[in-house]
Amino acid sequence: MMRLFHYVGPESIRIAARSSPAGCKIDSTTALANWWRENRDDERGWVTYTITANGDLLIAPRRSEHVACAGGGPVRAAGEMRFGHQSDVLEVTNNSTGFCPAEDCWPAVHSALEAAGLRHPGGFTFVAIFRRCPKCGGRNLVKDDWFVCALCDAELPLTWNFEL
Ligand SMILES: [Zn+2]
Repeated sequence: MMRLFHYVGPESIRIAARSSPAGCKIDSTTALANWWRENRDDERGWVTYTITANGDLLIAPRRSEHVACAGGGPVRAAGEMRFGHQSDVLEVTNNSTGFCPAEDCWPAVHSALEAAGLRHPGGFTFVAIFRRCPKCGGRNLVKDDWFVCALCDAELPLTWNFEL
């Protein structure tokens, strides 16, 4: 069974996201080509993505909030993708501070990319390690294997801990 990730970011962003459109469902190379035709982004190639509870790939311009892209969530995965020419995914991450998805959510992304017929790197090109501080509750993006809370210096667990 696929794990679902729930939004864990600021409530103000969740509320603001309600007035933003959900991401565009990408289920084919044609759908992706059509999306790029309408979204000439300033940060060329990068998009925000979420994988819905149903396994659908939704994408939105990179400045979009993940919770907006997801239409409110929950998600099987979330992060950023960079596309090359046509439909090739060159980079893909689980970097979403809104959902703080676990490091092992790649299979959900893999399934959606395969279903849409998009070529991909076969795994995350950057793995974001999110941990909730057991002491202050702060959301941390762990860098350089430094499992210490940036807000209160408490030790962070080695395993993902955003379960409700
Ligand atoms: Zn802390």
